[in-house]
Amino acid sequence: MTDGRALALAYLEQQRLLGGDAVILPASEPTPGARPGKTETPPSGLPPSGVSFDPPSGDLFAADPVQQAHTLAAVAALVAECTKCKLCENRNHTVPGEGPGNARLVVVGEGPGRTEDETGRPFVGKAGELLTKILGAIDFPREQVFICNVVKCRPPENRLPQYDEIAACVPYLFRQIELLKPAVILAMGGTAAQTLLNTKQALGALRNQVHRFRGIPLVVTYHPAALLRNPNWKRPTWDDVRIARRILDS
Ligand code: SF4
Repeated sequence: MTDGRALALAYLEQQRLLGGDAVILPASEPTPGARPGKTETPPSGLPPSGVSFDPPSGDLFAADPVQQAHTLAAVAALVAECTKCKLCENRNHTVPGEGPGNARLVVVGEGPGRTEDETGRPFVGKAGELLTKILGAIDFPREQVFICNVVKCRPPENRLPQYDEIAACVPYLFRQIELLKPAVILAMGGTAAQTLLNTKQALGALRNQVHRFRGIPLVVTYHPAALLRNPNWKRPTWDDVRIARRILDS
């Protein structure tokens, strides 16, 4: 493990041991970790500011292959060979994510399911069809969105990814976001939200706020698979994705 990655993991672990709620700010205060020169006050009509998480970037001078990956394809190539956690043992395909390199919207889910593992593509099957409809509802064709997950290999029986698996895999996601520099991140489901915001707060408490990941606005909503189980969450999901749309339009 490189010095840069060890430092990043130590920082993440420290944040979790300290309670994991990172920094919660009132709407009127500037957000730590924000990009210099950018105002953090949400445009009028948007929900208040929430959690801000600004994990350190990897050490560009260390021999960390993830940090040395300068394209999304290079990240995907590293993922394809990865054996850093036990999820590699039963995978059929890695699922690094897909979408254009200039995507303004990045959707992050939890991890690949059965169909994703069979195809190597994220958000396919019924949940994927629903995601395509959700994106269409805010006039965002799926082809214009980068879609990925926190972990890139399928957890057995679709269980939640474990902490050590997330810690091993998250540098790929962070690097993808670093390369994409999207205008908005849509975190779908508790695992994506809690990982990207370094918090233990429940999804319900994280909704209806504009959070920040490395200064990038981040909106939290339900995972499409959860919507298939509970159609009552479709309405709040619609409210959430409209927040993302308004940020993109502002
Ligand atoms: S889940 Fe991530 S860290 Fe684990 S083997 Fe797959 S690509 Fe590597």
